[in-house]
Amino acid sequence: MIAPFTYAAAPARVVFGPGRLAELPGELDRLGIRRALLLTTPEQAPLAARAAELAGPRAGGAFDGATMHTPTAVTETALLHVEQLGCDGLVALGGGSTIGLSKALALRTGLPQVAVPTTYAGSEMTPILGETADGRKVTQRSSKVLPNTVIYDAELTLSLPPLLSAVSGMNALAHAVEALYAREANPVTSLMAEEGIRALVSNLPGLAAAPADLIVRTGALYGAWLCGTCLGAVGMALHHKVCHVLGGTFGLQHAQTHAAVLPHIAGYNAPAAPEAMGRVARALGVPDAPGGLFALARQLGTPAGLRELGMSEDGIEPTIRELMADAYWNPRPPEPDALRAMLRRAWLGEPPGEH
Ligand code: NAD
Repeated sequence: MIAPFTYAAAPARVVFGPGRLAELPGELDRLGIRRALLLTTPEQAPLAARAAELAGPRAGGAFDGATMHTPTAVTETALLHVEQLGCDGLVALGGGSTIGLSKALALRTGLPQVAVPTTYAGSEMTPILGETADGRKVTQRSSKVLPNTVIYDAELTLSLPPLLSAVSGMNALAHAVEALYAREANPVTSLMAEEGIRALVSNLPGLAAAPADLIVRTGALYGAWLCGTCLGAVGMALHHKVCHVLGGTFGLQHAQTHAAVLPHIAGYNAPAAPEAMGRVARALGVPDAPGGLFALARQLGTPAGLRELGMSEDGIEPTIRELMADAYWNPRPPEPDALRAMLRRAWLGEPPGEH
């Protein structure tokens, strides 16, 4: 029997296909944007220049100060640009960091947004915004931060280095894995999650071997879109909580941490979520989901253990304390001894075990 469920689709327009950044002018017109502020990180400033050329008079200016964790000080500076240039819309060209800045500006101004993702993180499909002030990251959900239009142009992902592509792809997989056992899981999100995993798994290994192959890049971006949609549609669980704690407490890199932890969380949750793990395994084409995720990560050459990411072993106990102190939903309750065994394996980079 299909269990009762609530499903809310996020109202974003998705324009998908290689080369479709060229349609930016029409998409800006559709939203009534006459003077857009083009947002990037410093490294991706040339992309803003290209978009400005395409947008012509619809480009009001550029701000290339986007950075990780959306510091409010950066948002305030960008806000001055919006006001001084008289901008009436935002275009975010980049990964989760740039899209985070755009969301923070949209929250404060109500301006419409076009997101042009260049990684697989999935932030463009979520109403979630994490902002940092005084060394503390605070996350909120608001429909005000959801981009109006998303342009997925795989040509823009060709420059994402292979290792960053691999960890970013594992970050996307984590959204879909947790969506399958989420408290709000529903048949529609689960379909997208399984298809998202399948699309990523069938393209990430090819991408590692041939990063300039537009066909595999397009397949991976399609998977990332589906996984990002899952992240936006249902609540996440232990995996995202662990990554949030590790990132916030030890400053570990976002996507790398997801890649190292995901197989272990799948191992921890497997006894409590057999149906979800069956679907993950089916999408991976393997008999065992945690082992399959670990084998994929090894094949992609992502950092195996938290130790490799610079975390000290002393960090395991404070992490467990934080995981036990906070209330969050997970199919299996947090058990200190099992969490300790799981985190130790994740720290060492060993294959996931049963705990
Ligand atoms: P990122 O945006 O921080 O980008 C990492 C680096 O890669 C940057 O220097 C960027 O300029 C560069 N880069 C991005 N795309 C490139 C490309 N195609 N070619 C060359 N270089 C490229 O990385 P990310 O993993 O996409 O985002 C991480 C951030 O996003 C974290 O702060 C995370 O918390 C946030 N995030 C938020 C959500 C959400 O729903 N709110 C979801 C996922 C991630």
